[in-house]
Amino acid sequence: MDFALPPEIDAIRKRVRDFVDTRLIPLESDRANFDEHENIHPDVLKRMRAAAKAEGLWALQMPKSRGGGGLPVVGMAACYEEMNRSIFGPVVFNSAAPDDGNMIVLEKVATEAQKARWLQPIVDGEVQSSFAMTEPDGCGSDPSLTYTRAEKVQGGWRVTGRKHYITGAGESKHFLLIARTSDDDRKGLTCFLFHADQPGWRIIRRIPIMGPEEHGGHCEIAFDGLEIPDENVLMGVGDGLKLTQIRLGTARLTHCMRWLGMGRRALEIAMERIAVRESFGQKLIDRESVQGLVGQAAMELEIGRLLTMKAAWVLDQGGFARKEVSMAKIVVADALHKSVDTALQLLGARGYSKDTPVEWMYRYARQARLVDGASEVHRMVLANFLRREGREFFQWGAHG
Ligand SMILES: Cc1cc2nc3c(=O)[nH]c(=O)nc-3n(C[C@H](O)[C@H](O)[C@H](O)COP(=O)(O)OP(=O)(O)OC[C@H]3O[C@@H](n4cnc5c(N)ncnc54)[C@H](O)[C@@H]3O)c2cc1C
Repeated sequence: MDFALPPEIDAIRKRVRDFVDTRLIPLESDRANFDEHENIHPDVLKRMRAAAKAEGLWALQMPKSRGGGGLPVVGMAACYEEMNRSIFGPVVFNSAAPDDGNMIVLEKVATEAQKARWLQPIVDGEVQSSFAMTEPDGCGSDPSLTYTRAEKVQGGWRVTGRKHYITGAGESKHFLLIARTSDDDRKGLTCFLFHADQPGWRIIRRIPIMGPEEHGGHCEIAFDGLEIPDENVLMGVGDGLKLTQIRLGTARLTHCMRWLGMGRRALEIAMERIAVRESFGQKLIDRESVQGLVGQAAMELEIGRLLTMKAAWVLDQGGFARKEVSMAKIVVADALHKSVDTALQLLGARGYSKDTPVEWMYRYARQARLVDGASEVHRMVLANFLRREGREFFQWGAHG
């Protein structure tokens, strides 16, 4: 059993950590570096992206032949965690959702022609992308409730329906869209690619949310005759559910990788404060009740790190890691809550203010138990595996 990172991956991890410490964290304390939706200001983002590219820390999840870093999933786990120690990190390194998940799935399943047209501009940071699946009164936890329809027409497809909470849609140029092409239970959904400049779709509203927003917000969108040519079907007609599973497997895990970094940073901020803050003649860090809080939060993050790394390893071995990803998603979402809430509590009123990024993290964290599968749904998935596999559910695997 070897829990150590290969030296070449650890070297990249350290470079990411240094970039975050020296270039990104200092930006967080100046409100001028934020846009009106509490994310990094576009001008600052442009500058920092250029710096990340210049240092060879750009799109680490993509193959080197595309201008990325060629990291295996285990390497991504180590580096993404470092990136999200800054709330600005993932988007600066081009590893933020949903571009990250979209790039990974396009790299896995698109044809070479599709990759050139739809993937490379996202990798290069020229366009943003969105993944449109969830529907008002339709698909959410259960994709079988997809009502947006694509009807076959001469040379392509005509789409009608509605989607909501589509991250980035206000800015995105490239869209991956899940629509119903037949009533077949397993082969009824198809994934399409379309460009924002095509007619036949519109943004109804940018939905106000509890937390800070990704660039382009979270939008409700309507399709009223969007025409998509056959060449822009991703995988085959009827492969939409399969594509979603391929996309969400890794995308869910990259959420975990990032959230672990955010949780760690919240604890770092709390530890700095409790080392100097006194109460009733003692430093907070010397109080047993406070030690219990930070010790518990740190342990929960470490449990999340182990589950995330194991899932990453299984993916690198060519497995689907469905159980491992579900476990990591549940545990890391909770560990993020725990660490951010603990930090806010120990900072006192300062934690509730905007003088530290902890309140930002607190509002952001609440989505972690909902997006990419609510925790209850992942528990259901695990229970189904347990029922099916019995004692085989728990395995180490063995060499030879
Ligand atoms: C910030 C944010 C960004 C998002 N970005 C995108 C995006 O880019 N693209 C996109 O397509 N979607 C996006 N979504 C939507 C997200 O994927 C859905 O919210 C999620 O899939 C849950 O669907 P729902 O909201 O319809 O909840 P529902 O399916 O209505 O479920 C509501 C609740 O019911 C419970 N529940 C549901 N099913 C079960 C079950 N089987 N067993 C037990 N309990 C259950 C859970 O507690 C769940 O939270 C985003 C959402 C948010 C909040």
